[in-house]
Amino acid sequence: MENLEEKTRYIMKKYGISANKSLGQNFLINEEVVENIVGASKISKEDLVIEIGPGLGTLTQSLLENAGKVIAIELDDRMLKILNDRFFMYDNFQVINEDVLKVDLADLIKKEKNANGLKNAKIVANLPYYITTPIIMKLLEEELDIESITVMIQKEVADRLIATPGDKQSGAITYSVYYYAESEKIMLVENNSFIPEPEVQSEVIKLNIRKSPAIDLKDKDLFFKIIKASFMQRRKTLMNALVNGGIIKDKAQAKELFEKLGLDINVRGENLSMQEFADLCDEL
Ligand code: SAM
Repeated sequence: MENLEEKTRYIMKKYGISANKSLGQNFLINEEVVENIVGASKISKEDLVIEIGPGLGTLTQSLLENAGKVIAIELDDRMLKILNDRFFMYDNFQVINEDVLKVDLADLIKKEKNANGLKNAKIVANLPYYITTPIIMKLLEEELDIESITVMIQKEVADRLIATPGDKQSGAITYSVYYYAESEKIMLVENNSFIPEPEVQSEVIKLNIRKSPAIDLKDKDLFFKIIKASFMQRRKTLMNALVNGGIIKDKAQAKELFEKLGLDINVRGENLSMQEFADLCDEL
């Protein structure tokens, strides 16, 4: 097989492309990583795949061979000609030149599934690192009709996303991810797997969307508000964070509530399990 690094350099030279750092462009040149991402996403001809940020089309090529249809969403219009030149012979390829955060994905998935008789939708991407969190949150919070999200992101963010709620590495986003999905670590990726090399290590993770959320909540919005408030003031006790964040009126009310729930008044938010946060939320 043609060397992926040479092929990437050739395409970049042919089209006069230099990587745009502000768009988070680090092009993948490691064949083994491509195979692992596509393998982990377990796509078949019955699947609609939405690829975010196809860039020069490295992952896209492999996705097209395996999926029923691939819709690639790319913000950089320099990539359109490259993608269309490379994949004009595939009738299962479509590119949308747009910021993924502005795309109505729910509508897109519904229309595509209806029109093409595709059974499942899956997201696959080597994400632009400067907007990893907003993209993941959009994919989860919009409760899209998708089966899984297989993405390469910076290792540090991956560790936080897939931590178990209540673990040392957890942050507010850990609880969101856990609520919506079961996560899997796929592989660590060294910096020299890209042109140009990113300054941080990368990791491929897979989020398998749950059929129903991890826990039952009476008020989902309040639940995530409580979690955000407790992690915004990580160094403070949970009680102070909730009073300062305006979630509980005053300390007296907080003490009463904590006592009722059997929570230590000095506990920090990061030490609470998902269920303990849920109980607190329900009680409020
Ligand atoms: N998939 C290619 C690969 O693996 O070599 C490129 C990955 S590169 C890390 C991220 C890609 O996302 C770039 O092509 C970049 O132009 C694109 N991108 C950046 N911001 C975007 C946005 N808001 N919406 C869609 N694509 C975006």
